[in-house]
Amino acid sequence: MKHNFGAGPCILPQEVFKEASQAIIEFNDTGLSILEISHRSKAFEAVIEETEALVRELLSVPAGYSILFLQGGASQQFAVVPMNLLPQTGKAAYLDSGTWASKAYKEAQKFGIVQVVASSKEANYTYVPKNFEIPADAAYFHYTSNNTIYGTELFETPKSPIPIVCDMSSDILSREITVSDYGLIYAGAQKNMGPAGVTLVIVKDDLLGKTGRDIPAIFDYRKHIEAKSLYNTPPVYAIYVSLLNLRWLKAKGGIVEIERENIIKARTLYDEIERNPLFKGTAAVEDRSRMNVTFVMENPELEKAFLTLAEERGFVGLKGHRSVGGFRASIYNALTITSINALVDAMQEFAEKNA
Ligand code: PLP
Repeated sequence: MKHNFGAGPCILPQEVFKEASQAIIEFNDTGLSILEISHRSKAFEAVIEETEALVRELLSVPAGYSILFLQGGASQQFAVVPMNLLPQTGKAAYLDSGTWASKAYKEAQKFGIVQVVASSKEANYTYVPKNFEIPADAAYFHYTSNNTIYGTELFETPKSPIPIVCDMSSDILSREITVSDYGLIYAGAQKNMGPAGVTLVIVKDDLLGKTGRDIPAIFDYRKHIEAKSLYNTPPVYAIYVSLLNLRWLKAKGGIVEIERENIIKARTLYDEIERNPLFKGTAAVEDRSRMNVTFVMENPELEKAFLTLAEERGFVGLKGHRSVGGFRASIYNALTITSINALVDAMQEFAEKNA
């Protein structure tokens, strides 16, 4: 049995993959593959409508917000957000809490003035800055809720005098959020929602159309809203697999239940990291992510041996990102407590042998 602690792309439950594979052969009773039915057919319209309805229901998205399924990944949103929200002579505020956050503000600099309100770069992003002021004269404030590489997460939405834009690529659908606290939320789907190739955008309609910029149609949220995410050929399979995964999430009790499980999973692993004399966490305790657990060894010479044991036990993707080193256990929605317990057992056994 494999335990997939990889950071992505696309860690979904086995039953979702199974059902998804069937649809490649034949989708419902169409006699055709999901890959070949027209994206303008009734059958696919029903897929996109149910996917949108489930996102709306699971995240309690209020009226006045549109839900879009786009292409280009979260990285494309780094540019599309300022194109749509940053007036040509305006300013945007950004929090720099990691690699993705810094990529986001660097893209925004191409469209206007960017004020970085705080950064934890000097500490290799081991914490999320909290003491900063958001300028009231900026068009929006952007932050990243979960810093996938560094294993930090901001659970409390900052108080802001201006609309908040949030990159939730790696923690969307893992915990409850209040969508009305945000002007715009975006997420590459490929952690907790579905396969790579579709990007979720939730945007408050009345923020749009105020930049004075002639936005290329393909990057203009209003065009995608008008066309109900069918402005051009959508990533049909990625949307369909997302739908199956959202159904799975709803059936197991929705966000309340998955958050409860995610808290237990994260706590079990962090407790072992704290207890075990061979390992130590890299993120500030109060900012520790529930999605990506980063840790190193007190004695780095032992890291290779632990990775060998990890491989023997069927653990996949545990090697840390090069910016942090050590290990990163990504414990997204689909990863079970059984996998966490298997990892904890291996850490304990390793400590007994190497103490
Ligand atoms: N933002 C965050 C928080 C991420 O974790 C990632 C990728 O892992 C990205 C942005 C980039 O996403 P994409 O590869 O979809 O462009």
